[in-house]
Order: sequence, then structure tokens, then C-alpha cells
Amino acid sequence: MSELDFFGHIIDGAEVESVDGGRFDVWNPWTQEVWAQAALGSAEDASRAIASSRKAFDDGPWPRMGRVERANAIHKLADLMEARVDDLARLDTTNMAKPFAQAKHDVARSVWNFRFFADHQRDNVGEVYPMDSGHHSYSEFGPAGVVAAISPWNFPLMMASWKIAPAIAWGNTCIIKPSEDTPASVTLLGRLALEAGLPPGVLNVLNGHGAPAGSSLTGDDRVDRVTFTGSSVTGKHVMASAATHLAPVSLELGGKGANIVFGDADLDNAVYWAVEAIFRNSGQICLAGSRLFVQAGIWDEFMDRFKGAAEALTIGDPFDPATRFSALASRKHFDKVASYVESVELEGGKILTGGVDDSGKWLVRPTIIADLPLTGRAYCEEIFGPVCVVNKFESEGEVVRLANDTRYGLNAMLFTENLSRAHRVASKLRAGTVWVNCFFIRDLRTPFGGVGDSGVGREGGNFSREFFTEPKAIVMQIDR
Ligand code: NAD
Repeated sequence: MSELDFFGHIIDGAEVESVDGGRFDVWNPWTQEVWAQAALGSAEDASRAIASSRKAFDDGPWPRMGRVERANAIHKLADLMEARVDDLARLDTTNMAKPFAQAKHDVARSVWNFRFFADHQRDNVGEVYPMDSGHHSYSEFGPAGVVAAISPWNFPLMMASWKIAPAIAWGNTCIIKPSEDTPASVTLLGRLALEAGLPPGVLNVLNGHGAPAGSSLTGDDRVDRVTFTGSSVTGKHVMASAATHLAPVSLELGGKGANIVFGDADLDNAVYWAVEAIFRNSGQICLAGSRLFVQAGIWDEFMDRFKGAAEALTIGDPFDPATRFSALASRKHFDKVASYVESVELEGGKILTGGVDDSGKWLVRPTIIADLPLTGRAYCEEIFGPVCVVNKFESEGEVVRLANDTRYGLNAMLFTENLSRAHRVASKLRAGTVWVNCFFIRDLRTPFGGVGDSGVGREGGNFSREFFTEPKAIVMQIDR
């Protein structure tokens, strides 16, 4: 057998091969080599994982455990992750060419997801509703059951932990299916969960493709909740599949974020965040600021500085500490992003800097586009790559209209030093999150999710509690 690393499924307390022994290749997009294999999940493997999580929920200790004990168990998992930060980050960097420093940052945020939801669950309170009728009512938040969680490849560990952490913290059992492009770090997470002593079946990892592995989870009536992060097209399939057995869904989908820079913005800050918003993670961020609107009076100066900052990003091997920007996550994704870049000039746009790299790497350089008609594909569709389409605007009303003219509504950013305008515009933008003078900053208590094609539902803090529990009202007669 090969010398390659192997990432199995984690099912019922052990790391296992697929029932039929199937495996698939795992690629390193920087070296363009296969560096590992993973178990190729079938419908039968999915069924095995569901049976295990079902048993762990119906008969196991996890949902019945005291909230302090459960929080402690999750903190123990977080401790083990902290001890293995470099290993977890190395897997994400190898698997998707994310610069290593950014991958370490993602691990830290993943650890925080576990710690936050462990404590949130431990310290949460129900509500009491005094009634005039001689009764009183109170609410209780019991676990919902078996959660199927399906995650994408752009933040392999972080996106998975964002789902797993609240699911298990609230006493559910969970099956995570990571993206077939990035199975490595989530499988290590599953191993660490066993090391931390989480009972078998509380966290199962099912590797494999969207179909049959993912679709076998979402369509199975032993699953009580489906939480999905991925593209809007897949999200519609997931919702339809979960609807066959009326499982509630939480969908975090694509985006086409508007980034608005007003004439009175602090330009150093606006340029810094404009670069982060579209070029971090090679633009493979649902929240990317891919539509940039710059007010006419500062156009020349802003564009000069933005272009200069984009060209100054150090491009290279993701393990080189100097690297800020690297390859796209897979050959397939490179082909998709390149096809958008190639469409730009055919549709009347101008590439001000960047474009498809001709080195043979799966690399699209930080790309800035102007003069593209508002009907252009690169302006209207989610590219999910380092491609920013910039437009000039004159007035506040005009830019709000432009920003809101999209099927997506995940997030928007605005840069201004005018306090009234900041509040006024933030409130008019049709988006799940609006960042003012910043980007990507999260408080895990706040709602996270999108409008329109960007998703269904919200997660974060009590919003996660509503989704991952069965809230119950208990009404009691007290006046007898
Ligand atoms: P994708 O939709 O192709 O795949 C996401 C996951 O769904 C993968 O694990 C895949 O195997 C699985 N899947 C595919 N078909 C399935 C099916 N029929 N049933 C069940 N599961 C199935 O998305 P991707 O390319 O991995 O990720 C990129 C997309 O994710 C972008 O659109 C991006 O905007 C979005 N995203 C959104 C957020 C958010 O929070 N809103 C965060 C990250 C990424």
C-alpha cells in the first residue's frame, strides 16, 4: 500500500475504512501532488454513522450529562486542539494552500468556537413568564437529537467547528461531513475528540463527496437537524432533501459582498481592509468584498493605493512565512475563477492589475477590474476568488441601491468618518452583517447568516441555541 497519509471516517469511537474499502486522493494545490488519501464514504457508511450518533443520543450519556460536565469535556477537546495548533494548521495549509500564519489564526478561532459554546450552554438561562391566571410558564432548551453538519473547503477546520461546537454543546450528537477537497484537519479533530473522551458517536466524521455521503445524511429521517455551509446551489438541494423528513435546516451560503468607501473615509484603513476583504485566503471567502464602490472624489487616490497594496502582496509557497497570498484550493476551482477573469474583457471590462498567472500554478493573482457593465458575470455572480470589481459612485442613495441590487445578502462593509451616515447606511443595507470601518471581526454572540440566496436562518449565541435545541414551554398551575 502507498506511503501516503490516510484520513479515515471516525465512527462510533474508532477511525475506520469505508465498508467497501473505497478511498479517494487528497491534493496539495501548491505542489499539485496527491499527498494523502481519505475514506470514500458511501450511503452505507453514512447509515453507519447515523446509527452510531442515534444510539449515542437515544441511549448514551451525552445528552443526559450535566451542563458543567459537558462544558468541561468540550474544554478538554479545546485544550488538545491548542496543544496541536501547528499540526491542525499544517493540514489546512497542505490541503488548500492557505498561508500558514492564517491557518494558525483559523485554528485559534476554531478553539474559541468550542470554548465559547461550551460556556454559553453552561451559563445559559431559560425564561419565566409570570401569568395572571394563577399559572406560570417557563422555557427549557433540550437537545434536538442527531445533527448532520456539512462544511466547505475554504476554512476547513473553522467552518466545521462553527457547526460542531454549538451542536454538541447543547447535548446533541453530530456527524460532520467535511468537503472532499479538505478532509484532513476535521479528521484530526475527530481523533482529538476521542482522545478528549467524548463518548462514541457524539462526534462522527464522515469523509466523501456531496453525493452520496452528504446527501445520505440530509435525506435520512434519523437526522433531526441539518446545518450546511456551502454554495447556494447545493444549499437548495440540501433544503429539499431535509424537507422530505421535515428536519429544520440552517443554511450559510454564498455572497457577493459590497464594500463601500465614502469620500470622507480614513483611506489607510479603507485600503487595508479592502485588500483583506478580497485577497485574504485568495478571495475564497463567502464574505469577500468582491464588489467595491468608491466615491468619485477619492477615486484616483484610492485606486492608486488599492492597486499598489494588491501588487505588494507577497505571493508564494503557503509555508513560507513571508507569503500573504497563494494558490487556489484545487484545479477545479482554479478553472472556475480563471474562466471569470477571461470573461472580463469580452464583456467590456478592464483588468487594472492581476489576472491568471502563467506559471502553471493554480494561481490567479490579486485582480482588480474596472469599467465592467453591471450585467457582467464577474460583477453579478459569486467568483469565490481574488477578483474585485470596482465601480465609482456619486451619492449615498445611489450606492445603497447598487449595493442592494444582488440576489445575495450575506454582508457589506462601509468606510466613513461620518457617524450619522455610518448608522444610516448600515441600517439600509440588505445584509446579515454590516461592518463599519472594519471587516471579518466577529462576536460569537451575534447573529450570523444571510439574506436571499445567502442563506436561511442565523447561528451564533442564542440564535444557535434556538436551532440546536427543542425549546419547550412548561405551563404550571400554582394557584390551587
Ligand atoms: P459546495 O456547495 O460545493 O460544497 C459544500 C459541502 O456540501 C461539501 O462538503 C460538499 O461535499 C457538500 N455537498 C455537495 N453536494 C451535496 C449534496 N447534494 N448533499 C449534501 N452535501 C453536499 O461548496 P464549496 O465549493 O465547498 O464552498 C464554497 C461555497 O461555500 C461558496 O459559495 C461560499 O460562499 C460558501 N460559503 C459560505 C459561508 C457562509 O458562512 N455563508 C462560509 C464559507 C463558504
